[in-house]
Amino acid sequence: MDKTAQSVTILGATGTIGLQTLDVISQHPHRFTVFALTASSNVKSLFKLCQQYAPKYAVMLQEAAAKELTAQLKTIGSSTVVLHGEASLNYVAAHEDVTVVMAAIVGAAGLHPAMAAAKAGKRVLLANKETLVMAGSLFMQAVLDGGATLLPIDSEHNAIFQVMPHQRSTNISESSLASLGVKRVLLTASGGPFRNANLEELKAVTRAQALNHPNWVMGPKISVDSATLMNKGLEVIEAHWLFNALPSQIDVVVHPQSVIHSMVEYIDGSVLAQLGNPDMRTPIAYGLGYPERLSSGVSSLDFLLTARLDFCAPDMVRFPCLRIAYEALNMGGTAPAILNAANEIAVEAFLADQIGFMDIPQIIEAVLSAANIEAVESIEQLVAVDTQARQAALAHMRSLC
Ligand code: NAD
Ligand code: MG
Repeated sequence: MDKTAQSVTILGATGTIGLQTLDVISQHPHRFTVFALTASSNVKSLFKLCQQYAPKYAVMLQEAAAKELTAQLKTIGSSTVVLHGEASLNYVAAHEDVTVVMAAIVGAAGLHPAMAAAKAGKRVLLANKETLVMAGSLFMQAVLDGGATLLPIDSEHNAIFQVMPHQRSTNISESSLASLGVKRVLLTASGGPFRNANLEELKAVTRAQALNHPNWVMGPKISVDSATLMNKGLEVIEAHWLFNALPSQIDVVVHPQSVIHSMVEYIDGSVLAQLGNPDMRTPIAYGLGYPERLSSGVSSLDFLLTARLDFCAPDMVRFPCLRIAYEALNMGGTAPAILNAANEIAVEAFLADQIGFMDIPQIIEAVLSAANIEAVESIEQLVAVDTQARQAALAHMRSLC
């Protein structure tokens, strides 16, 4: 192994993004060493990854799972140290021996370790968009204060980052878009599996249908978010913080082929886009290698096979989540954190077959309109706001039954 190899912590290693990150890393064994791998409760999967990558630390959220993993690793004489709990996630995210942190935990649970990595000045590869939705101002400040390098992994934001002016390559949120000659950013959206469904069909959508995304292989929560278009709504808020873009400077364009991953329009009329096959290993490799390019295993885009690129406007009547997310961004303060928490509860309930697909926007809107929106002051405040919004969403759900 190369002495200059970068040491990587992967938060959410057993997830879709975590596994694709390990796939790219394993293609470059001399450039990267795996310092820590973390997971919520999947012992079998983390055990397999520890066998394969021999990290210094493995962290499980739950103590019982950590005990089981320790016992299994003992049988193969592994030297990986097993830790558990939220504090241990922060520990491996901020450890002095780590240079790169892939933040790929799903949901609000990813906030604290991503903040820990930012404060410790790491190269933060941010897949966990919920961190920016919940606490955008505090997270961007932590990146600046900690001297961290923030690289967006969400494919749209990674595309925008790639076609932004070079002077914006690090600390991307510091200058205004206008000062860079940028008129607007255009986030592309596949439209999800129900792009052409009518309202009646949307009401009858099942869990299995919602999990079956046409273009991307993703975890269950983001798959449902993509089906409701809340994913695009969360991405609008993410773009606001990452690129210092006003809500009026962020447009969404439905593009069913998912070949153009997003675009930037400049004031002279130029539109720059990043294209490629829809495979998250491209943005992951970009983040890992930046500013160099690394091979990722992604196949070449076949333009002749693609043949055509279609575009249309998003329908905010059939997909109210996108409208509600823009509204939350315009409200500002704690509104996006409330939106995020209510969405997490509604998506969990939908995945448990407790509510219908169109109940998701209804619950979120009810929680948001009844909430008291405050200015953002601290992480502790946001955690309390998140808890209250979850309780309000559960109470509203009970009233639906
Ligand atoms: P996933 O469900 O496949 O994996 C989630 C990972 O987080 C798992 O390793 C799981 O063990 C861990 N985890 C879950 N709950 C946890 C908790 N409470 N504490 C600690 N760890 C926990 O999700 P994914 O599809 O890999 O997505 C991860 C993040 O990346 C999400 O924020 C998602 O929005 C974002 N993202 C994903 C994709 C994609 O293509 N999958 C694309 C863009 C952005
Ligand atoms: Mg995305």
